[in-house]
Amino acid sequence: MAARTSRVLHRSLRETPPKAIGGEGVYLFAEDGRRVIDASGGAAVSCLGHQHPRVIAALTKQASTLAYAHTAFFSSEPAEALAETLVGHEPGGLAYAYFVSGGSEAVEASIKLARQYFIERGEPQRQHFIARRQSYHGNTLGALAAGGNAWRRAPYAPLLSNAFSHVTPAFAYHEKHEGESDAQFVARLAAELEAEFQRLGPDTVAAFLAEPVVGATAGAVTAPDGYFRAVREICDRHGALLILDEVMSGMGRTGTTHAWEQEGVAPDIQAIAKGLGGGYQPIGAMLASGRIIDTIRSGSGAFLHGHTYLAHPLACAAALAVQDVIREDGLLDRVKERGKQLEQRLTERFGNHRHIGDIRGRGLFWAIELVADRASRTSFDPALKLNQKIKAEAFANGLGCYPGGGTADGIRGDHVLLAPPYITSAEEIDLIVDKLGTAV
Ligand code: PMP
Repeated sequence: MAARTSRVLHRSLRETPPKAIGGEGVYLFAEDGRRVIDASGGAAVSCLGHQHPRVIAALTKQASTLAYAHTAFFSSEPAEALAETLVGHEPGGLAYAYFVSGGSEAVEASIKLARQYFIERGEPQRQHFIARRQSYHGNTLGALAAGGNAWRRAPYAPLLSNAFSHVTPAFAYHEKHEGESDAQFVARLAAELEAEFQRLGPDTVAAFLAEPVVGATAGAVTAPDGYFRAVREICDRHGALLILDEVMSGMGRTGTTHAWEQEGVAPDIQAIAKGLGGGYQPIGAMLASGRIIDTIRSGSGAFLHGHTYLAHPLACAAALAVQDVIREDGLLDRVKERGKQLEQRLTERFGNHRHIGDIRGRGLFWAIELVADRASRTSFDPALKLNQKIKAEAFANGLGCYPGGGTADGIRGDHVLLAPPYITSAEEIDLIVDKLGTAV
């Protein structure tokens, strides 16, 4: 059976993962009888865990009322209510929501909106985007070109290489020089970004694109204080936009709805997905500032980009229910509280481990970085695939955790990422760290 299904279905053409046949709370159940605690929420998706009764009720109700209506003809109640929930109060000036089917689509829409905005302002030469090495923005061709993930890009080069360039990420563990203060590190990165604007020609840059907390490619990497304020200042000075990719870090994962709330800056355009719908339906969104939308409203009058499943009623109903539960149950406070506990337990368990070099993150978004040598911070030989081995070992023992980083070309640092559901109990946090400790 395994050989048959990997032939017709799976991404791996040689192996078939066990079938998931159900879930409840933070647990997933496999056909082989295993119960797995979903400590990474898949890939930071399942923020409410599995089969949450209020989300299931909302989905069932919507499915029995209206599953789909094309946006060329109709709007729908769940789409309007969800947009109102996300941008009705104009957080950081974001006043428009555009619902797509996932993170890569949200990033692509963000890039295209930035281009259209400048075309309509009479600045069509603003075609360059500056992003960062060791970032992930998705797997469609445009999003892949935006990302700075060498091994994912290489097979498809040159991608859209004329549009995207990459600067050093604010990844202190690997990029900060010895003896350098946070302020000096931020100043050095800001100088590099400024130099990149100058190299390209400042009036040819459309936007700078970054994840506020870098997820899968670097492992829950937060920026030093002041970094995003410096970035915002540079973008503003040159008339470029700031696009933040909060596909992984957003919708409560770091303890605030958006991670940028903790950086003292707001983006002009933002991509969200994962925690928006919590995995109950495929959904992502691009949020845009009123300034951008007003320009287009008084210009061509329509965003040129479109998809068949825009603002899908079922997807919007699921996301609306997920966001209602987060708000009504005060889950952002839970994320902060459990996040502190998770940090503490990880530090107790791995703080002196000779092969764990860094423990980092924010909210319920944490990673441990595996090192061959703590002093030099060198990674293990990527061929060992230690992160994958830990994932497999943990999974065999009923723990789902996400392996990232660690490739021969340009991605520094094997790590294991944890992004448990916001509903995870204190006992379950302890269990996650115990099981991870055993696997490591
Ligand atoms: N951006 C970031 C920051 C992500 O983490 C991801 C998914 N891992 C994406 C974009 C792409 O999202 P999707 O897989 O839903 O297309």
